Formats: sequence, structure tokens, C-alpha cells
Amino acid sequence: LSLLVDHNLRLERLKSVMEVNGVDAVLLSVGADLPYFTGYEAMATERVTMLVVTVSGEPTLFIPALEAPRVDANGLNIRPWHETEDPLGIISDRLAKAPTLAVGDQTWSVFTVGLQERLPGSKWLAASALTGPIRMIKDESEIEALRQSALGVDRCMARVPTEVGFEGRTEREISRDLDRMTVEEGHDVAAFAIVASGPNAASPHHEPGGRVVQHGDLVVCDFGGRRAGYFSDSTRTFVVGEASRRQIEVHDTVLAANRAAREAVAPGVACQDVDRAARTVISDAGFGDEFVHRTGHGIGLEVHEHPYIVEGNGLLLQPGMAFSIEPGIYIEGELGVRIEDIVVCGSEGVDELNRAPRELVEVS
Ligand code: ZN
Ligand code: ZN
Ligand code: ZN
Repeated sequence: LSLLVDHNLRLERLKSVMEVNGVDAVLLSVGADLPYFTGYEAMATERVTMLVVTVSGEPTLFIPALEAPRVDANGLNIRPWHETEDPLGIISDRLAKAPTLAVGDQTWSVFTVGLQERLPGSKWLAASALTGPIRMIKDESEIEALRQSALGVDRCMARVPTEVGFEGRTEREISRDLDRMTVEEGHDVAAFAIVASGPNAASPHHEPGGRVVQHGDLVVCDFGGRRAGYFSDSTRTFVVGEASRRQIEVHDTVLAANRAAREAVAPGVACQDVDRAARTVISDAGFGDEFVHRTGHGIGLEVHEHPYIVEGNGLLLQPGMAFSIEPGIYIEGELGVRIEDIVVCGSEGVDELNRAPRELVEVS
């Protein structure tokens, strides 16, 4: 994470939110909350790492003693625990006077259940209720990190038509090409690369497999990686050979929906109104039942986080919120189209992080 990040400021923000919500302690383990607030990422193992934040008092990081040498947690109190100690007992002793606890969403149940057994009568919440609203407003350094990740995936997208062969190759082979280019274009790791061809594209999260891409297929390519902690996530749909009128009609509709949603982004607009902007275009074209998922998700230290761009979410957009716009049409047994961009709500309107051409491109 960037050196410009002020973790103490973030922890102070968390404490204010805890105070307002009557939460005595927040417990953070595996997941993105811990690196967001401290710069340190917990190892996902059976040895528990847990940051305990209380409204008053110094946050303390309980950590396996063998991990302690690699911790640089910006002056946080560290309490290493040794192999013969009972870490959950040590942590629960600290929480005896904290009746209301919030635990990180991805914390292993074996730790949460173990603490609950040792702290009968305490009340438990999911920490995202507190951390989600903080993390969804990105600061300048986070927006810049997301922008660099998005530009990396855009450069990959520009290489696809000339460098990736489609016809006669399996989805799995194409997916590996996308992973490789994702790293070549500046990401630290490739995170995922959905390649869904022909009828397989009707499944939005299709797992790329052994299907050989055919002449005439539409191919949905949805991929991204992580660079300096922040994710990219973009989708374009390509056609192998010349597009049919039907394919053009569906693609044009999704493109118009993508554009309408991007244009709807502004401070004070409800998340569900961005979803409606995309959905109206698709419904009006007669494909309403084939747009089977929400329009988008927040993005940052996680690929999917708050805010969610979905009907029923009346949350108003604020400057600094970063999320995807990814309408799609999925026709079972026939085809699928999705076009996905990451955008940020700016003070004036939309700030588009992905700018790769969105038109239907013919590949071979
Ligand atoms: Zn061909
Ligand atoms: Zn995606
Ligand atoms: Zn996405």
C-alpha cells in the first residue's frame, strides 16, 4: 500500500463510527479491512491473526509469534502469541468488558465460534456494517491506484484482437493468455479471467473450460488483476468472424445500457437509479428477463465490495465511490454479452477509469 496512506486517520474514523453505533470492539483478521486500517495483511491459516480495536485504548494486533518478524504495522501494539499459548483465550480476556463486538466478514468461523464460546452473552455484528461505509469512499491515492489498475487492463484489452487467437482454441487456453497479459501490463497478480464462448456465455460467471471456440461465436472476456493492492475488472465481448444481425442487436443494446448507466452517475443519485438506467434500456429492447444480475459492485481492495449498484439500494452516490457498470444479456443455449467498466463518482459526474473501445470487435 502507498506510503501516503494515513492508517491512524483511518483508525480514528473507525473509532468514531464504533462510538456512534455503540460497538465496543472491532476484531479484524483475514480480509481487506485489516490491510486497509493497518497496512498489514493477515495470513489465512489456522494460526489466528487478529487486530482488536476498542473505542478507547490502543489497537492491538494479536499475531502468531513466528509471523512477528515480518510485521511492520505502523507503530501498532503487537502481542505475539506462542505455539503453546491459547490465542483465543488471550484475545477474549481483552474483550471481557466489550459486550458488543463486530468481527471482520471473512474471519474464519473457527475463530469467531471459539471467541463466542469464551464470551457468552456478548452481541456480535459483521464488521462490514462499520467498515463498508468508510472503505467505499476512496481517497485520492486509492482512486489513482484504481486508475492505474484499470489502465493496465485496458492495455490488455487493446492487445486482445491482434495477439489472442480465438477460433480453434479452448476457453482455458485463452484465459491463460489473458492472465499472462494482465501481469505483463503491470498487475502484481492476475485475479481472474472469465472466457465464455458461444452458448457458454449465457452463464455470467462461466468457468473457462475445454470448449473450442467456433467461427461465429460471441466470446465474453471478463478479467482483472491486483496492482498495489487495488483491483481491475473489465469485460468486453468479441465476435469470431463477422457478427450476425442478432449478435449486433444484442451487443448494441448492452452498449446503450452501459452508456446510460455511466451517464447516470453523479453525486446524490441513488445506486438503484444507476441500475435502473441500464435496466430500462435492456427492458425496452425486450431483453429484460435476460439481464439476470445487478448492474455493478464497488471495487477497491476487494473485487466486490460496497456500494452495490442494485434495485433496492437507495444509498446516494458520493464523490470517491468506485464501482463497476456491467450490464449484460444472457440467452440460454445461444449467447451472452457483457460490457463492464470501472467508474468513480466525481464531484461533477462520472470519472471513467476504463476507456478501452466498447464496440463489438471482430477477432479471428
Ligand atoms: Zn474463422
Ligand atoms: Zn468482471
Ligand atoms: Zn465486475
